Amino acid sequence: MARPVDHVIVGAGFGGLCAAIKLDEDGERDFVVIDRGDEVGGTWRDNDYPGAACDVPSQLYSYSFAPNSEWSMSFSPQPEILAYIHRVAEWAGVLDRVVLRTTVTAADWDEDRQRWIVTAEGTAGTTTYVARTLIVGPGPLSEPRLPDIPGIESFEGELFHSARWRHDVDLTGKRVAVIGTGASAIQIIPEIQPIAGHLDVYQRTAPWVIPRNEHHYTPLEKLAFRHVPGLQKAARTAIYWGRELYVPAFTKAPGLAAPAKTMALRNIRRGIKDPELRRKVTPTYEIGCKRILISNRYYPALDADNCDLVTEGIERIEGNAIIGRDGTRREVDVLIVATGFETTDIPAAHIVRGRGGELMADRFARTGMAAYKGSTIPGFPNLFFVIGPNTGLGHSSMVFIIESQVQYIRDALRTIRVNEFATVEPTEAAFEEWNADLQRRMSTTVWSTGGCSSWYLDEHGRNTTLWPRTTFMFRHLLHTFDVERYVVGAAEPAELEVVTA
Ligand code: NAP
Repeated sequence: MARPVDHVIVGAGFGGLCAAIKLDEDGERDFVVIDRGDEVGGTWRDNDYPGAACDVPSQLYSYSFAPNSEWSMSFSPQPEILAYIHRVAEWAGVLDRVVLRTTVTAADWDEDRQRWIVTAEGTAGTTTYVARTLIVGPGPLSEPRLPDIPGIESFEGELFHSARWRHDVDLTGKRVAVIGTGASAIQIIPEIQPIAGHLDVYQRTAPWVIPRNEHHYTPLEKLAFRHVPGLQKAARTAIYWGRELYVPAFTKAPGLAAPAKTMALRNIRRGIKDPELRRKVTPTYEIGCKRILISNRYYPALDADNCDLVTEGIERIEGNAIIGRDGTRREVDVLIVATGFETTDIPAAHIVRGRGGELMADRFARTGMAAYKGSTIPGFPNLFFVIGPNTGLGHSSMVFIIESQVQYIRDALRTIRVNEFATVEPTEAAFEEWNADLQRRMSTTVWSTGGCSSWYLDEHGRNTTLWPRTTFMFRHLLHTFDVERYVVGAAEPAELEVVTA
């Protein structure tokens, strides 16, 4: 069945839903939002492991157009965030165009029709959408990455990824192992350590962990947010600008992060008594090189009697045991891999084909994972990313980035509509200049100079994931669709004066 539609939006998380809500507001109502999950929510639906919470303050980690006075605390837990996403999608009236339990398996640019042919496999069979615009919403944290450990495929106990939590597996009294000590693991470990019989934590690289300064909102504060005009907006603005002040410490002068380093070292001393364990958890690279984590409970959990931090590395998995590089054999009932996501090899690149049938992954093999303004790619007409290459942050809210990109897309669609363009795609020159500037800026960042390897970098050591400037600048640069940096597909009639929206 082929279904013509103006816009196909892939992914019903924060990004895809924001695009849907704003397009709808602009009268661009003919769209579908396709998602493989059972409900909307994206990463906040998938990551429902014990302890899942946001490490960016909720006042900022929410849509600017949908403030929520009911956040229970400054860093809200996952169920609250998921419920918020549901509420906003319902309130905005876009759920009628969300197609769930459906996976986009191919998206091909049809030159003759000047349309994207999008194949979607759902419970009711295959649907082909014929769309003017393709908006790619799954961010880089959507596809779980399993560790490449010999023998893992034949592990004899229960095994699951942090983003695919098995709530049916009872950990009480069990021998549990967690591989990884990233943002997900350090939230999981304090939750499961008290109930596990024994817990082994496999650390490859120690993270920097600063205290979590949690604030629980009182009923009076919530009341004030609801009723005092401008108060919640002022709180959000203060948090926003406070976060922007961190940018130079990441991008230009890592020495500015010294206070954070002091806090992190104090966090270790406060949380751990054992000097040997303190040594093992102290990172040997600059703070900020990997994501800075926040927790008051991670170190005490590691220091508990039933927990071992294993740093010798993993040789292989044999039956129900993990064999360390030092030959130690540790038996495990449940193995939890908190080993992150396919961040530098996004799944969408393997199913989207642009002009001449070029697979996006093949283009990325030539150029690196890169886009113009994190949003568009030469050779891929009328395709827009939300959370595209080099739009990630180490210091602030991705929802701010999402709203900035959606603003750019709205302005692009208005420009296309007003001028009756068939297609827009950035020029190679615009693409080259943008990325040359990005990579030049990367050279002074702590992500490049801090002495660590991280998911920010691809296999060539090139940072294809993060934005190396202020989010304020990102918003400014994406405020208006810069049609002069684009190749415009023939309009009907052929010569039209370009009107920017
Ligand atoms: P991650 O930060 O990529 O951490 C993965 C962990 O697994 C790292 O400790 C890594 O070690 C380890 N690892 C990977 N492969 C391994 C292997 N083969 N053997 C041993 N260890 C291995 O993944 P994540 O914790 O899921 O977090 C991903 C991102 O999600 C975060 O950076 C953050 O942006 C986001 N997140 C946000 C929140 C939030 O509160 N907002 C919560 C969770 C996640 P190395 O360090 O040595 O590579």
